[in-house]
Amino acid sequence: MKKSFVTLFGLFCVTFTIAQNNVKIDGRLKPLLDNFFEYCKEYNIEYYDKLFELKNIDIVDTLTVSPEVSTLGMLTRDKDNKVENIVINWMVLLDQEILKVVAFHEFAHYFLEYEKHICDDCGQIMAVVNSSYFDIVKDWDNQVKKLFMDSPIYKKRKTVASINQHSRQNYLAN
Ligand SMILES: [Zn+2]
Repeated sequence: MKKSFVTLFGLFCVTFTIAQNNVKIDGRLKPLLDNFFEYCKEYNIEYYDKLFELKNIDIVDTLTVSPEVSTLGMLTRDKDNKVENIVINWMVLLDQEILKVVAFHEFAHYFLEYEKHICDDCGQIMAVVNSSYFDIVKDWDNQVKKLFMDSPIYKKRKTVASINQHSRQNYLAN
């Protein structure tokens, strides 16, 4: 009797933990996210814990669409200003190349800690707007390399690494 109670309790805990860590990812964004994570591994950027702090990575029809200006993607936050969802405008689905750039742009805001854009319209993934997504996609490998190597999280990590190395050298010199 006691044993089965323990087992039940154990099962309950496991279910609870899984439910807590449930991030819903739209199937159309999943391959791009997997691809983005491959680069994270390559550049040694942690993404796993951050991923499970999110609720949704989703395609939505609630973002502004107009001939003048459309919001193609954004991060939405909870009342404590913590990022809750990464959302992409459904209209981006009409073009696979735009989808790729917009998805990487939004993923980078969150996972690479880009709090700001790097320019207004300079033909880079982290520009505010892009007049030509085609140019970015044409130069994709370089674009992604720049995106990762210039990212706040990558620079921060490099600084920490060089401070560590510096203090080790000091230690060795003593
Ligand atoms: Zn942005």
